[in-house]
Amino acid sequence: MITKKILLLGSTGSIGTRTLDVVRDFSESLSICGLSTFGRCDLLTRQVEEFHPVAINVSDPSKAAEGRSLADTYGIKLTLGEEGLAELIGICEPDIVVVATVGIAGLIPTLSAIEYGADVALANKEVLVTGGHLVMEAARKQGVRILPIDSEHNAVSRCMTGADSAKVLTTAGQDTFKVRRIILTASGGPFRHLSREELEHVTVDQALNHPTWRMGPKITIDSATLMNKGFEVIEGHHLFGIPTYKIDVLIHPQSIIHSLVEYVDGVLLAQLSIADMYLPIQNALLFPERLPNRLAPLNLASLSALTFEQPDMERFPCLAYAYESARMGGTATVALNAANEVAVRRFLNREIPFMRIPRIIRETLDRHEQLPSDNIEAIQEADRRAREVDEAI
Ligand code: NAD
Ligand code: MG
Repeated sequence: MITKKILLLGSTGSIGTRTLDVVRDFSESLSICGLSTFGRCDLLTRQVEEFHPVAINVSDPSKAAEGRSLADTYGIKLTLGEEGLAELIGICEPDIVVVATVGIAGLIPTLSAIEYGADVALANKEVLVTGGHLVMEAARKQGVRILPIDSEHNAVSRCMTGADSAKVLTTAGQDTFKVRRIILTASGGPFRHLSREELEHVTVDQALNHPTWRMGPKITIDSATLMNKGFEVIEGHHLFGIPTYKIDVLIHPQSIIHSLVEYVDGVLLAQLSIADMYLPIQNALLFPERLPNRLAPLNLASLSALTFEQPDMERFPCLAYAYESARMGGTATVALNAANEVAVRRFLNREIPFMRIPRIIRETLDRHEQLPSDNIEAIQEADRRAREVDEAI
């Protein structure tokens, strides 16, 4: 078997470390050519020792000296800053770039990976929320695949049959083939049962305590507000070429069904498995191969029930704002993402209460002035302007 060379952006995070577990287990088929961290040089050092990349990136400017000494010690190449992420591609010459960074930071490296001609295994969903049109168009032109690591989209891609599946993983056409709708499942987060009044008083520690998944801090907060699911609706629209009004969200607290596809004849296909990101990562990295792994299989008899309920967009307005921004088109989803990045950072820093997050986003969308979403400068400008709104209110 040919070994695929993998450049892993965001290797020290939750998805990054799970990706390395997959690479370790399938070392005959997968190898690491590059790694990156924002600033966790201690963990990056251990990863360099084990996986022998040819180059690394340290994105946090204040950690440049640590990055230099690490690269010198192991005789490997180093790039610095977020701008340096894209430079890694030319140095490492990867077959697949795993984008496991957070926020809009992943957009330029994703576009560079496509331009270079590598397939992209995408965890960093904000890339499609902000630059979905650009990314999918570039992938179509270059004939590269965008392989979804997000568990719901990975599940959807596995529920697409025959010609549909081929279309999906080679970046989807505009027609919606035989699919009537896509149903994305959501755990509902830790605050599923709280009233609006109770939501006003939740703490950072409560919000970080997700019931079914262990993830990085930002996506954990996004899951608590349901913005994560809103982002996933937009992500699904771009990946599968299907309008957002045909993408529904269903709360499924057990996180066993990872998403469903409903066909025009009313038949539903669902993907079930244990909740472990190893599975979608394995699928993306080894696609189209299906290989045995060492995970324990799902034991259906041990589950008492699988339950479903409608999401409540009154208590969780972020989900409604995501649909709204997708309907607005243009750069509205860029503003949505930027406002959310700012608001979540402030909440995590304990500067604002939980329910201020949707208020900042509402205000930002109300003030948004549309720019074209098909060029990178306009996207960056919309991102910059949206980040200023929070300062002004
Ligand atoms: P994380 O915070 O655990 O890890 C993020 C990684 O990216 C780290 O290595 C960090 O050093 C690096 N990084 C962060 N900001 C950066 C920046 N500005 N520039 C360069 N590098 C930066 O996050 P995570 O939970 O692994 O999530 C990564 C992405 O995958 C997010 O977009 C998230 O929404 C998505 N995702 C995560 C999960 C999950 O289970 N964790 C599931 C689906 C999708
Ligand atoms: Mg998901």
